[in-house]
Amino acid sequence: MNSPNSADSAVICSAKGCRAAAVWVLAWNNPKLHTPDRRKTWLACDAHREHLSQFLGVRGFLKDVVTLEEWEASGR
Ligand SMILES: [Zn+2]
Repeated sequence: MNSPNSADSAVICSAKGCRAAAVWVLAWNNPKLHTPDRRKTWLACDAHREHLSQFLGVRGFLKDVVTLEEWEASGR
């Protein structure tokens, strides 16, 4: 998966088989694998934001959903 900060390639949705441009960043953390301040990110297009959020949400992993613009502006 591309980092949201990689400037060399288009930022593509993380949903399986989706090639749409990502507009959302889903920040998540699996407490069994990651320290509490660690953030993994998934990218989502408009169509998949809900689906991917739910996937992470039901597992209790989802921490934050922000636009890609906001994410990059936050410098993470
Ligand atoms: Zn998508």
